[in-house]
Amino acid sequence: MAMLNVLVSGGGIGGLSAALSLASRQFAVTVLEQADSISEIGAGIQLSPNCTRVLFALGLEEALQEVAFYPTAGQMRAWNTGEVLTESRLGKSIERLTGYPYLHIHRADLIGVLARKVSECTAINLITDASVRDFTQSAKEVALRYATPAGEKTLTGDVLIGADGIRSVVREGLFGPETPRFTGNVAWRALVPADRLPEGMVRPMSTAWWGPRGHFVHYYVRRGELVNCVCVKEKVGWEVESWTERGEFEELKADFAGWHEDVQTLIDNADRQALYKWALFDRKPMPSWSKGRVTLLGDACHPTLPFMAQGAAMAIEDGAVLAGCLSDHQNDVGYALGHYEMLRKGRTARIQNGSRRNARLFHMRGVRARVRNLVVKHGKPRNPWADLFTYDALTAHKQANP
Ligand code: FAD
Repeated sequence: MAMLNVLVSGGGIGGLSAALSLASRQFAVTVLEQADSISEIGAGIQLSPNCTRVLFALGLEEALQEVAFYPTAGQMRAWNTGEVLTESRLGKSIERLTGYPYLHIHRADLIGVLARKVSECTAINLITDASVRDFTQSAKEVALRYATPAGEKTLTGDVLIGADGIRSVVREGLFGPETPRFTGNVAWRALVPADRLPEGMVRPMSTAWWGPRGHFVHYYVRRGELVNCVCVKEKVGWEVESWTERGEFEELKADFAGWHEDVQTLIDNADRQALYKWALFDRKPMPSWSKGRVTLLGDACHPTLPFMAQGAAMAIEDGAVLAGCLSDHQNDVGYALGHYEMLRKGRTARIQNGSRRNARLFHMRGVRARVRNLVVKHGKPRNPWADLFTYDALTAHKQANP
């Protein structure tokens, strides 16, 4: 039987990793990316073992090891006193539990690793400067229309995957227009050269400072050369969603005025040419992701607040599960996509809802915050990550529909 020809709209973390998962199962893949080159600017990303499992299986272990930072733990601290409220071990202990490491990485390094692997893979045709416009489908194929600098073009394939982010054109083509919801949170992103900071101030772990109407997360990236900061504040009246929207240093300072001195030191030493502001949007879990030969993955179908650090991890898992389902049911694409969706919807909805809950938990004020701190500090210790991190996206396709 001829292998399926799969079209992917979007060459972000989700689209590229899905292309690699599909190619590893012998499919021919064409990825269309609207940008004129594959790149990501600024900021870091946390890669939990549920997605490093997939990335390592794609042969990326060595390349990731060269650029990543291996955190020893994840820690929560009080915004003003700096008191450590709770700490969960990552490092070796999470590797023992799951078989895979937890990594911190610069986004540009991750996308670079993925793009290099894609360029080495003859089964993948990556077309940049190609903006997907719309599609039509019949019982036999999907036809995709896209714009290039040389004019409009069409491609046909057996399957179309919309990996084109929160404002997905493919999603709109399937289910009609629906604007994502502004969550009331704005994230500042900043990078601090580690050698500008007092020695030992930033420990080798991810730290989240919980404060009134905001939280501040920092962790090392690029082998420990940079500290990535994600500084979240509840704000109204500013709803620009863009990785490239610059913010003013003074506004960032004002947003975190009164916070612990370590937070001030991080802000003061951040690279001021690279302070970015990003309004955070999400959607409610969608009842359906697929129709016929077309489906969605990543932020296109389950955009989430980043408060569980799982958006990209879910996109990477999606690609692996989808590739497995298509491989098992190549002669019935509709069934394969339905199975994929059934396997993935519950887990990704839990992340979307859990991330919303975390916004309320992290940003409590007054008495509620004091009670929360006591519960977190003195509650029964448990491993909060076990279910999330042990998920095996490489074999999930073998499960019956839940
Ligand atoms: P995107 O990254 O949005 O990629 C979509 C791609 O499609 C883009 O390249 C875009 O140019 C392209 N595209 C769009 N429209 C078209 C079109 N019409 N034609 C062709 N191409 C198109 N996740 C984690 O797992 N860990 C973290 O620590 C983490 N931290 C985060 C911190 C912040 C502040 C934010 C905002 C998010 C964070 N996330 C994290 C979430 C993560 O960044 C996203 O979930 C992830 O990038 C989604 O990947 P994607 O490929 O689905 O979508």
